[in-house]
Amino acid sequence: MPGARRSITPRTFPIPRRAVPAALLAVLSFVASAPGAARPPGPLEAVPPCAGRIEQPRPVDPAALPWSERLDRNGVLLGYSFRLGSRTVRVGPDAFTASLPRGRSLVGVRRPDGTTLHLLDRVRRCRVGGVSVPHLVHGVRAAGGGTRIEYLAVEAGTRAELGIWSVDPAGPGVLSRIAPPPAGFPGGGEPRSAQLPGGGSDPGWCAGSGCLDGWGPEPIDGGGIADPGAAPDAGPEPGEPGSPVVALRPVPEWNGLRPPAGVPLGYRPPAADGAPAWLRTAIDAAVEDAARSRRSRAPVFRRDPEANGVFRYTTIFPAGPCADGIACATWSWPDTWQIRIRAHGFPFRWGTLRWCQVDPSDGCFDVERVILHELGHIIGLGHPESEGWSLPVRETVMQHITPARPAPGSAMHAFGPCDVATLQERFDLPTAAGLVSTCNDPETELALTVDEVPDARTGTLTFRASLRIVEDARWGRLAGNRLAGRQVELQRRPLDDPAARWSVFWMREEPTAGRYSLALVPDRTAEYRAVLRRDPEDGIRPVTSDRVVVRGPDGCVAAPCPLGGEDGR
Ligand SMILES: [Zn+2]
Repeated sequence: MPGARRSITPRTFPIPRRAVPAALLAVLSFVASAPGAARPPGPLEAVPPCAGRIEQPRPVDPAALPWSERLDRNGVLLGYSFRLGSRTVRVGPDAFTASLPRGRSLVGVRRPDGTTLHLLDRVRRCRVGGVSVPHLVHGVRAAGGGTRIEYLAVEAGTRAELGIWSVDPAGPGVLSRIAPPPAGFPGGGEPRSAQLPGGGSDPGWCAGSGCLDGWGPEPIDGGGIADPGAAPDAGPEPGEPGSPVVALRPVPEWNGLRPPAGVPLGYRPPAADGAPAWLRTAIDAAVEDAARSRRSRAPVFRRDPEANGVFRYTTIFPAGPCADGIACATWSWPDTWQIRIRAHGFPFRWGTLRWCQVDPSDGCFDVERVILHELGHIIGLGHPESEGWSLPVRETVMQHITPARPAPGSAMHAFGPCDVATLQERFDLPTAAGLVSTCNDPETELALTVDEVPDARTGTLTFRASLRIVEDARWGRLAGNRLAGRQVELQRRPLDDPAARWSVFWMREEPTAGRYSLALVPDRTAEYRAVLRRDPEDGIRPVTSDRVVVRGPDGCVAAPCPLGGEDGR
């Protein structure tokens, strides 16, 4: 990504002189006099400097700092701690870490006006140096063979996106911008994300309208990662891309995962010491929400202490699509899955995460709704935005950006019609009488037949209708379904009189699903048809059968033909 370069001088802070050999003092002397040097030392400044420090034998590189989070009993993030040699270093909730090459790690501490970056040698267990930058740093990668870092910057205070910047974390160095944010990318307090990929200079930028640069499909809730190499055969693909049929199912499938219909998915609830009580309550509630609103044979979730499905409450998320999520679902087929819920108080580029269950003031997120969304991923629902859709909040809980209180939909505790439409196509209706989601409109066929001869005793002719969804892979598991419980009309009008009105009779449902019948005594030659009208609660398309002509006693010229029947009406 090309970008205007501009440079400013970063603030640096001192390495204690007492530990610095004379040979290095010439290089570092400016550091002590640099702006910001007066900042009181924090826990990281107490880490011994590396200059002149030799470890024999050289310890093995642990690859990353042993970084652990500290939460209070209500699940509020207090900060982090890590060990460096015999020293335990405690930092606040605004700290972060990143592993760099050559046995080094960066520990950043965000402040209201910027970020202090500490470069630590995790092998020699000492501090190489540090620098303060006037940005909130969210996302770091090594550059220049490990001599510099590049980071994604957010403006302190306004939370505006500032692009990618580069600095020598050991200081001194020139801070330079190497890429601006995409034009028009939102700033402020709106949830958004950006991630630096491992190589190249093109980050992924995601916000409410989707992701820019075609990178990073799952920004805000995390959405998740499934192991694509181990995904099962998803069976026949739905309709052709771009066809009107696909357009009717705007909640796409997620990574092709398709757990077996009707088989419960076990989950281990988090232990009492691993998650706050309000979260455990919300998990149970969301599991019930999913079962109640799935309107399909989609798997339900069931507590099972032996299960491989787990919930985790943590600030520590995997890199990639989950990195900027407030929650995230991951699944390695066939049966291992995780839902991570980010800890309350975690600092994002757009602000500090607050769960309504802890702090119900405006701007909080409802964790029950978020867990329902993640459960949706586990049973195979993706984000509408990944297919270019922006759905009304009442249609889905699968938006990639969760609405915050008091926005509409922020406390929606049921799958929406478009979520149900996808679940029904993947897992089928719960019964033949189940209503099809109104976010779908599968094509139906209605066949009408009539007995060839009247009942000898009553003189009635029995009309039989058969209603089903057309046998077409476009409708997934709904294809070919016989539809019970519908109101099917039998209509009759005199033959050869198009101006005549249709008389309406209601057909009775037969024990066999999708079959309807009605016995009538034909009193004159007439044409008949079966009709299924549109039901605002039912997504199936209205349909009218072919017409059947029955010639009555007034003139039987073609079968079926009730010969000599008595007009009993
Ligand atoms: Zn998601």
